Amino acid sequence: MAIIIKTPQEIALMREAGKIVAGALQMLADKIRPGLVTSELEKYTTRFLTERHAIPSFKGYRGFPASLCVSVNEQVVHGIPGPVVLKEGDIVSLDVGAIYKGYQGDAAITVPVGEINEQARALIQVTEGSLYAGIAAAKEGAHVGDISWAVQFYVESRGFAVVREYVGHGIGRQMHEDLQIPNFGQPGTGPALRKGMTLALEPMVNAGDWRTRVLPDRWTVVTADGSLSAHFEHTIAIAGDEAEILTAL
Ligand code: MG
Repeated sequence: MAIIIKTPQEIALMREAGKIVAGALQMLADKIRPGLVTSELEKYTTRFLTERHAIPSFKGYRGFPASLCVSVNEQVVHGIPGPVVLKEGDIVSLDVGAIYKGYQGDAAITVPVGEINEQARALIQVTEGSLYAGIAAAKEGAHVGDISWAVQFYVESRGFAVVREYVGHGIGRQMHEDLQIPNFGQPGTGPALRKGMTLALEPMVNAGDWRTRVLPDRWTVVTADGSLSAHFEHTIAIAGDEAEILTAL
């Protein structure tokens, strides 16, 4: 598979898909409160996407059973909505993917449940900040390693660790297209970024060690040391000196 450069028309469709994803995440964030069961979030997600004529891209992807990934506390990514009840002080990562008119949008946020402690708050802020540091490095003519380094430096200089086993990716008609975007690496390395490339950047950041493991459900990724983890993601299009965020409201 080759790296696919999108036309402006294709990027316009990805912008529409991205707006739907961003709307779904905002809707979900507004629902988060202590006492909520995560399976409820799955229902809200499916309804929101269906009403907008979008197809949930995660459901059935390699057998994933839901439209939403919901990952609580030490869960990093790929948590399955279910009977878990959110409680005050939790942090919850929400990841939504949707297909609209054949094109994909993919984004994630981590939100607090009620009042959270200082470490959890800092972790969320640093993870979100690292995503924007990565986006700022995603200039036409720069290299994938510039994004990777920007994310890693932002995170590690603030005392947290970037997950290494899971990476960002090219995106378009397929959720995962060629080009992997690690959240760690060296500046000036890797493929050059070209106008019309569309990428999902998604730093996953742990409060403790970067290592992870997968639970027996074969999906849920957790930190190996049980420390908290956060995840932010945007789908972007490379465009000159400033990438366009496609998963914006
Ligand atoms: Mg993704």
